[in-house]
Amino acid sequence: MNYDICIIGAGVVGSLIARQLSKYKVKIAVIERNVDVSMDATGANSGIVHSGYDAKIGTKKARFNVEGCNMMPALCEDLSVKCKMIGSFVLAFDKDDEKVLQQLYDNGIKNGVTGMAIVDRDFILQKEPYVNPLVTKALYAKNAGIVSPYKLNIAAMDNAIMNGVMFLRETKVTGIEKKDGLFHIAVDVTGDICSMSKIDPIKEEDRTDITAKIIINCAGAHADEISHMAGDDSFKIIPRRGEYILFDKTEGSRINTVLFQTPTEKGKGILVTPTVDGNLMIGPDATLAQDKDDKCTNSDNLDYVYKTATQSYTGLNMKKSITVFAGIRATPSTSDFIIEESSKCKNFINVAGIESPGLTASPAIAVYVEGIVRSLMEMKEKAKDEYTMTVKHDKPFSEMTNEEKEKACSSDELCRKIICRCETVSEKEIVAAIYSPCGARTVDGVKKRTRAGMGRCQGGFCSPHVMRILSEHTGIPVNRIAKANANSCMLGRYSRG
Ligand SMILES: Cc1cc2nc3c(=O)[nH]c(=O)nc-3n(C[C@H](O)[C@H](O)[C@H](O)COP(=O)(O)OP(=O)(O)OC[C@H]3O[C@@H](n4cnc5c(N)ncnc54)[C@H](O)[C@@H]3O)c2cc1C
Repeated sequence: MNYDICIIGAGVVGSLIARQLSKYKVKIAVIERNVDVSMDATGANSGIVHSGYDAKIGTKKARFNVEGCNMMPALCEDLSVKCKMIGSFVLAFDKDDEKVLQQLYDNGIKNGVTGMAIVDRDFILQKEPYVNPLVTKALYAKNAGIVSPYKLNIAAMDNAIMNGVMFLRETKVTGIEKKDGLFHIAVDVTGDICSMSKIDPIKEEDRTDITAKIIINCAGAHADEISHMAGDDSFKIIPRRGEYILFDKTEGSRINTVLFQTPTEKGKGILVTPTVDGNLMIGPDATLAQDKDDKCTNSDNLDYVYKTATQSYTGLNMKKSITVFAGIRATPSTSDFIIEESSKCKNFINVAGIESPGLTASPAIAVYVEGIVRSLMEMKEKAKDEYTMTVKHDKPFSEMTNEEKEKACSSDELCRKIICRCETVSEKEIVAAIYSPCGARTVDGVKKRTRAGMGRCQGGFCSPHVMRILSEHTGIPVNRIAKANANSCMLGRYSRG
């Protein structure tokens, strides 16, 4: 299939770029090795909208962090994604820490961050009663916030698909060759979930003989390998794992802002934060990963995360932890985001090394990459009624008033069937997630879209029902329904289903 633009990687960066370009009359494919979006760094991070005081002055990181932070609330509004600009503290416990606060403040001013102040102990404890009372001062950043990274990623891809972008899932790029100015992209099919599903629009010809005039490399931790395929070895990606502990929603209501410790050379330190959905989360540590896809957690690292978090926050109750997870940072050898046309390969754009604050920066990166593409290719904008930049969702059942619930249930029986009791998710919502533009095909896909399985029992009760619903609507046999990718079937070989 011939495309004008192929974007490799469907994390938040690739998906927002696809959405940004989907308003033009060009044929775009996003090629993703996993069965869903948001299965790498975007699916496992802190979800913080950083205000931008710590990025090195004059870097792309600093520029896109501040721009992206300013853009995030409006983008989330357009995409019906929850984003709460709740502010953040960097906590100081001694004079050395206080010096760091001043440096961060000065750096922030130079980066163009507004809404910062160095505040005293009383201010902090009034806002956050569970902060360690030994705190002396803090850098308060009013413009920081929290967002659901995977919901943003899913909504961006939904929007792109609504505008005609082709999403090639379970498709791994294995080689790139340039002939007569055209890229020929070799791919491997990585799983059979989409081919088993009767509702998937991917036809075999969509992913055979793929050619593109422009490639945008958004392959996260694997971006150096993709760049190498195009003949550009100018950078390396060093994978660094970060581990987290997530706590029950009972714990989230006791914290109002994002709490950072003073940064070290390894990163921003261990943070304590509420999530947009009301949980409490602590993490991440930073350890070198041998394997770019090794997202295993380790009890020693989690112990470190817990002990370090208790230095800033006294309200942690490990009995209320509900799950642990890890994400891999794509740390670039160049120390800055790499967002440019490769000097070694014309029309090949690297969007690489997008480590933190890449989630925050992603809306601004998408607009910047649109500019690069426009400088390389003439693109005509579609008529206003031929595309949309907004996505609308029904209100989640759990957030409806009793009157709204009654009204919804009277017109739709599936509303009355509550599948996930922890998070009050109805069968109607799960079905809607399956039929959405970038529809869920796995148990984790349903979980990320609807929160079924996100609660205290972590899917102990609802997973079998979610599997049944997935199977009924996609046609995938129930014993082939997977948790994440095709090799993670939930059941053994035999089942009565
Ligand atoms: C522990 C941690 C904490 C973080 N915290 C924050 C935070 O609080 N705030 C913030 O702003 N940022 C944060 N970040 C950074 C943020 O998560 C990333 O910058 C962002 O998610 C990067 O998105 P991406 O699309 O570039 O990469 P990814 O989400 O990793 O997506 C890359 C995609 O490329 C695909 N791919 C790779 N190779 C191939 C191939 N050969 N063929 C096809 N597809 C391929 C992958 O499967 C993947 O889906 C954090 C990151 C980590 C790891």
